[in-house]
Amino acid sequence: MALADTALILQYMQQAVDVVLTGEHADSKVSACAFHPEQPEIPAVATVSARPDCLKGHFAWDARIGASSQFIHAELAALLKFGGNLRGAHVCVTDPFCPNCAKNMAEAGVRAIYIDHKGFQKDFIARNGDEFKTMSMLIAEKAGISVFEVNRKAGTVTPILDQQATTRPASTAIEFFDIADGMTLESAMQTFKNRLGTREAWTLAFVKERDGSPRGLLVFEALPPGITPEDYRTRGTDTGKYRFPIDPLTRLGIITRRMGMTLLDPRIGCARLPSSRSLVNALGMGISNLLLASAQPDHDPLGLAAITLLRDKKILNVSEMT
Ligand SMILES: [Zn+2]
Repeated sequence: MALADTALILQYMQQAVDVVLTGEHADSKVSACAFHPEQPEIPAVATVSARPDCLKGHFAWDARIGASSQFIHAELAALLKFGGNLRGAHVCVTDPFCPNCAKNMAEAGVRAIYIDHKGFQKDFIARNGDEFKTMSMLIAEKAGISVFEVNRKAGTVTPILDQQATTRPASTAIEFFDIADGMTLESAMQTFKNRLGTREAWTLAFVKERDGSPRGLLVFEALPPGITPEDYRTRGTDTGKYRFPIDPLTRLGIITRRMGMTLLDPRIGCARLPSSRSLVNALGMGISNLLLASAQPDHDPLGLAAITLLRDKKILNVSEMT
């Protein structure tokens, strides 16, 4: 079932390919183009994997932030720059997507992913083909995302995973609360710290909803939509490089965009020290203020090194609850 016009898909894939060599990363050349077939008036956005601007003056391109590279993967970067709805958006990408991008696209509500056929012959798939099959494609399948291979020369769009479903599983593990008179981010954090503890990773923000109403938003670490604990136990959990759950800080950044919410307080409350990767993603989403409820690292033992580095360079503002 065609989900968008073939000529458009070919055009947007070409837009992604046209920028792929402009990337700063010397080894990994990946680009993506986000568009929404029901919002043709919103320009498609093509971008390479890119570093947040705030990191550029401070580090060489290949310096690590804790356990993470500085680069926002092209799929997420394109969605973050895209001006249309994330829910129902489509993404063209030059290479098979990694499990982290699969998680982010599922959380964003992406409906279809198109992969350039040349991407299947390149480096990533040789190194990470197993993760693509066992994790990325499973996440796409469970989230109701269709996946296609695009051959620009032949002008074809061929289904790899054609999902007819018209409904998609909703993202779960978020809660809204009313911001009571006199409530501050600190006092809200204290309330939820007392209620939830800090053994589990969760994040909290004060947001303005699309209709203008202020709201407290609580976001938990969660499995991608449709992924069950059984999947988590039995598939793809032993590679070490990728994990199924989505970090709550990354989720919060994607969810606020998907739902058209803006931050009322620039700070994000975090129950635990976020992982290196979610810190880099947060910077890419314009989040640079954190309030920590505990100094316990989330699943990433290098999270502390990452946050210390970013704090020392004054790239990230971090305060801890007393
Ligand atoms: Zn990726």
